[in-house]
Amino acid sequence: MEKYLSQLNDAQLEPTIQVNGPMIIIAGAGSGKTRVLTYRIAYLLSKGIDAFNILALTFTNKAAKEMKGRIADIVGDEAKNLWMGTFHSVFAKILRFEGHHLGYPSNFTIYDTQDSQKLMGAIIREMGLDKDIYKTKQVYSRISSYKNSLVTVKAYFKNPELMEADAMARRPRMGEIYKEYVDRCFKAGAMDFDDLLLRTNELLTRFPNVLAQYQDKFRYILVDEYQDTNHSQYLIVRALADRFQNICVVGDDAQSIYAFRGANINNILNFQKDYDDVKMFRLEQNYRSTKNIVGAANSVIEHNKTKIDKIVWTANVEGEKVIVHRAMTDADEGRYVASTIWETKMNNQLDNSDFAVLYRTNAQSRAIEDALRKRDLPYRIYGGLSFYQRKEIKDVTAYLRLILNSADEEALKRIINYPARGIGQTTLDRLVVAANATGKTIYDVIKEIDSISININNGTKNKLRDFITLIESYKVMNKTANAFDLAEHVSKTSGLVKELGKDGTPEGVTKMDNVQELLNGIKDFVEGQIELADAGDSLAEFLEDVALATDLDGDKGDPNHVALMSIHMAKGLEFGHVFIVGMEEDLFPSAMSMNTRSELEEERRLFYVALTRAEQQAYLTYTLSRYRWGKLIDAEPSRFIEEIDDEFVNIVTPLKERHNPMLDASIFDDVEPNKVRFKKPKTAKLQKKEAMKKPEKFIISTPKKLKRVKHAKVSDDSNAVDSKLTVGNTVNHQRFGRGQVIKLEGTGADAKAEIKFQNGDTKNLLLRFAKLEIL
Ligand code: ATP
Ligand code: MG
Repeated sequence: MEKYLSQLNDAQLEPTIQVNGPMIIIAGAGSGKTRVLTYRIAYLLSKGIDAFNILALTFTNKAAKEMKGRIADIVGDEAKNLWMGTFHSVFAKILRFEGHHLGYPSNFTIYDTQDSQKLMGAIIREMGLDKDIYKTKQVYSRISSYKNSLVTVKAYFKNPELMEADAMARRPRMGEIYKEYVDRCFKAGAMDFDDLLLRTNELLTRFPNVLAQYQDKFRYILVDEYQDTNHSQYLIVRALADRFQNICVVGDDAQSIYAFRGANINNILNFQKDYDDVKMFRLEQNYRSTKNIVGAANSVIEHNKTKIDKIVWTANVEGEKVIVHRAMTDADEGRYVASTIWETKMNNQLDNSDFAVLYRTNAQSRAIEDALRKRDLPYRIYGGLSFYQRKEIKDVTAYLRLILNSADEEALKRIINYPARGIGQTTLDRLVVAANATGKTIYDVIKEIDSISININNGTKNKLRDFITLIESYKVMNKTANAFDLAEHVSKTSGLVKELGKDGTPEGVTKMDNVQELLNGIKDFVEGQIELADAGDSLAEFLEDVALATDLDGDKGDPNHVALMSIHMAKGLEFGHVFIVGMEEDLFPSAMSMNTRSELEEERRLFYVALTRAEQQAYLTYTLSRYRWGKLIDAEPSRFIEEIDDEFVNIVTPLKERHNPMLDASIFDDVEPNKVRFKKPKTAKLQKKEAMKKPEKFIISTPKKLKRVKHAKVSDDSNAVDSKLTVGNTVNHQRFGRGQVIKLEGTGADAKAEIKFQNGDTKNLLLRFAKLEIL
């Protein structure tokens, strides 16, 4: 451990070895906050603190995985027992154990944004509301913000201000939609992303014993990127830390960029008021970037009024100034990025992965991609539509979800007629009506179709019965088969693969490949569990990872690629060379964020985050004209460029010169005038495709290939084993065979048994993994 501690400067060392009490580290980008958290956990372990008593919350599961890997390097296997992940993944895990207090089954489904929006769309339709006024996405974000502010349905109807605000926005029936949505999720045994936080809060508030149990468990709590916690997350942390007050949070108010999703910068500002005797630490030395980059970033953030003053300096080399490049169109901008990457790579023998292109909106990636492809530069887009949200993948996982939880309404709707089996929308609508009227799930309504009065003809009833028979047969298989065998069987026998095969188009082939990739992923997952002697409910585990996964995870394929991502996605990451493209007024800062000073300041923080990702070199590019909303518009350079002190930038082309780009192409060195082509207005299809691209998600989860220690199986039988097991019992373990229990300790998630197996081994097993059979 000493060796590692010597890798910290004095200011970093102090909070690292401060074991007890509440503490906050506020420091600028690249100053080692994440490093301190990592080393601190390793230090706690080295001081004999049990890994089971440590909870670390990170912003992405990728970050958690990296941190865990680093800690394992220092302290070894004990790192496996740390509770580490995003708020969503950690509390999903806890809710599997405890959700029954709130009436949820342990195998509850997690609805992703797509599922939630589909359900809301269906409710809006069922209620006969105008879908142009009740726009699904807006309704979704409104309901999401209620939940993250802990405004339950009941609280909503007691709050005239909220109701009035919705009425003013011409949506007087928001409350009813909210209620119906919450009821339907509950009935489907489903939680959406916001529920994972809201229900955790509910659990900890309503059940003091449960709270006490987890307070006792998580004696040491650490939170990275604390500036971006929302109210719901804040309350969870506060409740859990209340007893021992061993809480360490790190953050940078200048990097708070999720206010639009409810993140509350006051959480960091008020930390000192929340706990007694808070120790406050500051780190000032940046280890990531050159002097020019640090200087440029500091000079930008100076323009914000709301901020905690802090010093960020670096002993690193001066480096090159930030390069500002003017392009004519987005295609031209893409060409500049690609050719610069290509040349820099060649001249300095760099890897593709030393480069990142960051943008304000995901739609900007297309022009960059085109240019990179022409140069044969491999790239990867992070964010956008995650692998697991692709249609063909969601179709397969919907079958798996329904097998696990037949109440899952969204899964059922997705596949009841896919592949087509002659069950139309009208039939489905009637089933939904019957389900709503009787309080039964759609699945149960179909099961009982013969004994209820419903206007569905006999032919269709037969088809419905066949569907149920099919799913029931899968359920039977799920009792014995592992997740991979089941998923493969389902893909084949449900007709899904056949359906994709029929297609014959290149898209169809890609979709088949994706399904194959999914199966490979499940296989890896299952094998990972076998390696860990961990034969739990692999299907439930896998589906949870899928639901919480986004595209930052599961970094597969050749890692040597140029990274393309939105700035929001880039938080906490670092790259040698960073291009920030689309540095134009109305794009960055976004036109939608210029109504108030605080919105503009959030955009500026976003720019600060972007700049500070760069280690060696930052490039800013803007165009003179850009297609936006289907029209070619004149663009102006972003005010943020001008806010950088002159000494840190190299403006290759003067900023404010106005051109008619149609006439004045020749000023661009790398573009021959006769080759300059202006884009045609986007076709309706392309626009639609772009509109359908989802914004990157807030929550990022375990990569699907990650072989990790699996969490509890909370099916009835494993609980039964937990409670029935006593010292002296003879048990059977899937891998180790017969043995005798010689010791039991811990409860709930931490219950362990020491077992002497007949093969001579004595093993200490966590019951939640071990799945023992009592003989
Ligand atoms: P951000 O605000 O962007 O999340 P951060 O404050 O979390 O940044 P880290 O990511 O922990 O900063 O550190 C930035 C870089 O500096 C990393 O590459 C890290 O390994 C390196 N670093 C941090 N502290 C030291 C140190 N004392 N000596 C050498 N390198 C360091
Ligand atoms: Mg960090």
